[in-house]
Amino acid sequence: SNIPKIVILGAGYGGILTALRLQKELNYNEADVTLVNKHDYHYITTHLHMPAAGTDKAENARVSISKLIDEFKIDFVKSTVVQIRTQDKKVILEDGTLSYDYLVIGVGGEPETFGIPGMSEYAMNIRSINSVRLIREHIEYQFARYKREPHRTDYLTFVVGGAGFTGIEFVGELADRVPELCKQFDVDPQLVRIVNVEAAPSALPGFDPELVEYAMQVLTKKGVTFRIGTAIKECTPDGVIVGDGEEIRSATVIWAAGVRGNRLIDEAGFETMRGRVKVDEFLRAPSNENIYIVGDNSLILNPEGRPYPPTAQIAMQQGVTCAHNLVASIRNQPLRKFEFKNKGTVASLGKGEAIGLAFGKTYKGRVAAWLKKLIDLRYLFIIGGIPLVLRKGKFF
Ligand code: FAD
Repeated sequence: SNIPKIVILGAGYGGILTALRLQKELNYNEADVTLVNKHDYHYITTHLHMPAAGTDKAENARVSISKLIDEFKIDFVKSTVVQIRTQDKKVILEDGTLSYDYLVIGVGGEPETFGIPGMSEYAMNIRSINSVRLIREHIEYQFARYKREPHRTDYLTFVVGGAGFTGIEFVGELADRVPELCKQFDVDPQLVRIVNVEAAPSALPGFDPELVEYAMQVLTKKGVTFRIGTAIKECTPDGVIVGDGEEIRSATVIWAAGVRGNRLIDEAGFETMRGRVKVDEFLRAPSNENIYIVGDNSLILNPEGRPYPPTAQIAMQQGVTCAHNLVASIRNQPLRKFEFKNKGTVASLGKGEAIGLAFGKTYKGRVAAWLKKLIDLRYLFIIGGIPLVLRKGKFF
């Protein structure tokens, strides 16, 4: 048939928003839409620090894709993309091949280790449902191990690399979880150390300095030790080597210091900067008018010419514009330029504590924590309406 084929790779923030918008805007038989994702669920990345620390169940951070999309309008394929072949307009899956007329790439980023030796071998990442399940079990296991080998206090030292959004949100949760674990395993809380190591001269770069100060105070009071302006030089099976050779012995290293684009993008032959593609004003890949790239794999410059940090917020807005432009292309209508509207950012610092910037104002403490909840509920509403808010909302 001549019905155009749209294939969306990845059901993350960018991919799922593109799919949901297409489902709404396309008329019957205007296009064949296929959504491909590694898992049969969508996960809420911005909530993953909680199941990672064990303050919430992993179950609450994921939603079955069949509950989000209308399978009469969109074909869902649960599979892993192994190669994108732009010349043949084909996508190679682990178990098959798809051809497309229009392609949307939304497979999300990967951890960036900056070539630090041992980091990809020995550190864990907060990335997916599977990765946070591993972190949670690993942390609990260290407490259990310590009880059998009480001289090994390194089992009770937790090193977190990176004091950006992810690192800060995670140490806040972990600090909340520690008292519970100490009680459960009869461990003296004084022996537990959470060390947050950051190479930059400040935590939470880009945030208002007063808020950063507040965040560090709150977290320090909860028991987090900060090593700001300290680079991790190497990760080993015994911990990390920092700065000028000092060793922090630890059986747990979580790397939360960087994201790069997906390997698939480099391998497909696109021109990239750390795996991210500088897309045109309509979100298309250079010299590939039929390929849109959304989320962590795309690079968009702000009016000052600096790249926007990859966030869920920008990925969602890109999904909306991407769907609009796909429909416009099919109908031979003019495309719409993408413009990021920053609605603000809130970083959680554990239970009842957060910092944020929204509506041109700064927030901290309980009010900021409510704001965070509101943002999470709004997201559930956007992707799954009231039913999803009722089902999952109470956990956020
Ligand atoms: P993702 O959401 O990463 O989704 C990618 C999807 O593609 C996944 O479903 C994955 O399974 C699938 N996939 C990957 N590879 C393949 C493959 N080969 N084949 C098939 N499918 C594949 N941003 C904010 O704006 N606010 C926050 O508060 C915030 N907090 C965060 C907290 C944490 C702990 C983390 C880790 C991130 C946070 N972010 C936050 C950043 C945000 O989560 C990301 O920018 C966002 O998820 C990017 O969306 P995406 O659409 O690019 O891809």
